[in-house]
Amino acid sequence: MMLEVVNLKKYYNGNQAVIKAVDKVDFVVEQKQFVCIIGKSGSGKSTLLNLLAGLEIPAEGEVNINGINIYKLSKDDLTKFRRRHIGFIFQNFNLLPMLNVMENIILPLSLDNKIPDEEYLKQMIELLAIEDKVDEFPSTLSGGQQQRVAIARALVIKPTILFADEPTGNLDKKTGEEVISLLQSVAKQLNQTIVMVTHDLDIANKADRVITLEDGKIIEDRIL
Ligand code: ADP
Ligand code: ADP
Repeated sequence: MMLEVVNLKKYYNGNQAVIKAVDKVDFVVEQKQFVCIIGKSGSGKSTLLNLLAGLEIPAEGEVNINGINIYKLSKDDLTKFRRRHIGFIFQNFNLLPMLNVMENIILPLSLDNKIPDEEYLKQMIELLAIEDKVDEFPSTLSGGQQQRVAIARALVIKPTILFADEPTGNLDKKTGEEVISLLQSVAKQLNQTIVMVTHDLDIANKADRVITLEDGKIIEDRIL
């Protein structure tokens, strides 16, 4: 099992009552699966994804990635684990404006004092069709191009698992669909496991599996 989620809970103190943002969630994701998480605003999607990626600490429960219970790791080891094993794509791209495209892409390796596998890097950049952008700065790129750079950056470490939080949320419908179809074809070639939060049902319908959240609980888990 690539990802095993056991009895995961995250509560917040609201004004009136406790908010059960993620409430007793269990599921397993196998290698190469492309899973979309959908649900209304406030259903817990972002909180769940942040818990899976080690960005937030649960009140209870386990997240096992490749057999490692990530919340049993020390803070430093979790940071290191995330840097080596987890790719994350954000809604707002999160590229560093003072670095050019290539510097942005290899940043996760640079932070780990590693050098890129040139063959892999070249293949990925070609698959994402950004080979003529590598010397540019993010501010000169369109939204779709910036998100493709962010995908390359997330994949550069050859992550065990890739998480994406509304990656098309800042793109128009057509550009969003193009970016996702590129992501899917790269993922196929790399056997990449993906868990993605999306509002867009047309995108969710292209996944292998769709998990629906409501009030922090899984109300549907559908294989397509
Ligand atoms: P979604 O991503 O589906 O919109 P979220 O995970 O952002 O849902 O939020 C789930 C619930 O938890 C919502 O009721 C939200 O208001 C609440 N919530 C999320 N983050 C916090 C926080 N840091 N403090 C308090 N409440 C939060
Ligand atoms: P999305 O649903 O698109 O992820 P949100 O606007 O719900 O975006 O949340 C954005 C950020 O604000 C998240 O990191 C979430 O944890 C936090 N957040 C959401 N709801 C609350 C809340 N009620 N109180 C504090 N922080 C919140």
